[in-house]
Amino acid sequence: MATNGNEGGLKMIEELTTNAEQIQDEELGEILSRNAGTEYLRGFLHGQTEKQLFKKNVPIVTYEDLKPYIDRIANGETSDILLAEPVTGFFLSSGTSGGQPKLIPVSAEYHKKGALVGTFAQSPMMRHFGDINQAGKRMELMFARPEIETPSGLKAASVSTSIYNESKFRTNLPKLYTSPIETIFCPDPNQGLYCQLLFGLIQRDEVVKVGSLFASTVLRGIKFLENHWQELCYDIKTGRLSDWITDSGCRNAASLIMKPNPEQADLIENICNCKSWEGIIRKLWTKARYIGCICTGAMRQYTTELEFYCRGLPLVSDFYACSETFCGLNLEPLCKPCDISYTLLPNMAYFEFLPVKNERDESFEMKSNDEDTELVDLVNVKVGQCYELVVSTCAGLYRYKVGDVLMVSGFYNNAPQFQFVERKNVILSVDQEKTSETDLFKAVTEAKALLDPLGFILTEYTSYVDTSSAPGHYVLFWEIKGKEGKHCKELDPKIMVECCSRMEESLHYTYKIYRKRNIIAALEIRVVKQGSFEALMDYFVSKGTSLSQYKKPSCIKSEEALKILDSRVIGKYFSPKPPL
Ligand code: AMP
Repeated sequence: MATNGNEGGLKMIEELTTNAEQIQDEELGEILSRNAGTEYLRGFLHGQTEKQLFKKNVPIVTYEDLKPYIDRIANGETSDILLAEPVTGFFLSSGTSGGQPKLIPVSAEYHKKGALVGTFAQSPMMRHFGDINQAGKRMELMFARPEIETPSGLKAASVSTSIYNESKFRTNLPKLYTSPIETIFCPDPNQGLYCQLLFGLIQRDEVVKVGSLFASTVLRGIKFLENHWQELCYDIKTGRLSDWITDSGCRNAASLIMKPNPEQADLIENICNCKSWEGIIRKLWTKARYIGCICTGAMRQYTTELEFYCRGLPLVSDFYACSETFCGLNLEPLCKPCDISYTLLPNMAYFEFLPVKNERDESFEMKSNDEDTELVDLVNVKVGQCYELVVSTCAGLYRYKVGDVLMVSGFYNNAPQFQFVERKNVILSVDQEKTSETDLFKAVTEAKALLDPLGFILTEYTSYVDTSSAPGHYVLFWEIKGKEGKHCKELDPKIMVECCSRMEESLHYTYKIYRKRNIIAALEIRVVKQGSFEALMDYFVSKGTSLSQYKKPSCIKSEEALKILDSRVIGKYFSPKPPL
């Protein structure tokens, strides 16, 4: 379904990926020539701008290292501590959503890059799905958070909130999206979600794309719909908005759109009333061409469930980005979620790669500290090798570890393509063993396979290490849903005990050794009641995380979050004996 409008965009992607090396050198040259005189870089480069000196002298850092500089700018000192250009504001990065949001400086140049990406990022999608802007509207679930003002008077907001605040977005919103702006900025996310679903259903004949930023938000929307479809249909039938929607913005927006429509309400009711919700998205939004949301990384755990709901429609994850910089595009939007690779765009930042050990590479020797490990340039990464992403940006981050581990899956022209592996720092550890997000995901995938044939789906999980008794042990919180009306109380406890064993069998060698030696106690699964993970999400959102950018932590670190889950436990199961 090629359209002429995207040819320029595809050509640009060809040029960028073909000239990746030269563009990366220019990118670094530009960053250094602008910023070598800043307080931070002067300390390492003494005003020089050579690449070799940069590589030799500028340290690899984390957010914590740069935080004192960023905080000084937020507190009113001049931007040239870190970057020559004035800082115009900050993005609030959720990172893993586990800790406090980070403040990422933003400048005019940063916005210019964002605008540039906007001109070609949709091209790979248009090649397959046509120009959806011309075809109809998007039913996208979007949630803004209030901006924060720093002591310097500069504003801090999540990337998504900043986009929703842009005048171009607001002007185009009524034509391109089903959600009015008031529903996106509604202070109560549940009222906002109800209204966004309502408006998406009212305009269902126009909807050509359904989605949200992350897969978890799309699923939250579907679960909310499962609980509220009768009420939504009643509102559509009568043309009146439910009384519990008290937000005046939402009510005003509704008054402009809603009128009694019993025929539409009956159609929706018939679709939602069926026993199985398999393919419900395609049934409700019959003209939708695809579901768009990020479904890699921490989101891959949601793909099975999402594929069930969107059966017959492609699930498309089109980009990889963080608040620090836009990173890459998925050039094969139709590939399966497990095969998704992102091609890094060399004009977005200067990218370097810290080699990281992966399971397949026995010979890999990690140096004791990052300073001793050579960073690899974008075009020199090796297929099959895992790396931690390190970026230098036009907005004051130099050799900054984003915290993401990526694996090189191939090259497109001269630009490498990466599969997202995991967040670096999410691990469980009782003693010397280290269990990564990926280790955990694999073990959970093995164990939950026991539930599927019995008509149960694991919808959410997270973990923590319980050291309240010695030895400590791994705890998994599982939220389980019965298919077709089954209740998870019907689940045989023996199966859950088997899930505990299966998880232990699937964990890595060191875990198993420690477990056999009783350095680690039996793994425990705590089944929590339906809605527990929504309560967890609500908690993080109430603490300042943007609902649009929320990523459930793979490992719980906060006492309060733990209490939320623990207070909803309906069953506890332990592995009966150490794995073989
Ligand atoms: P934030 O700064 O709050 O926008 O979060 C950015 C983080 O989200 C990244 O560093 C990744 O860990 C994660 N992320 C963003 N895009 C993707 C993607 N396409 N696949 C997997 N994880 C992603």
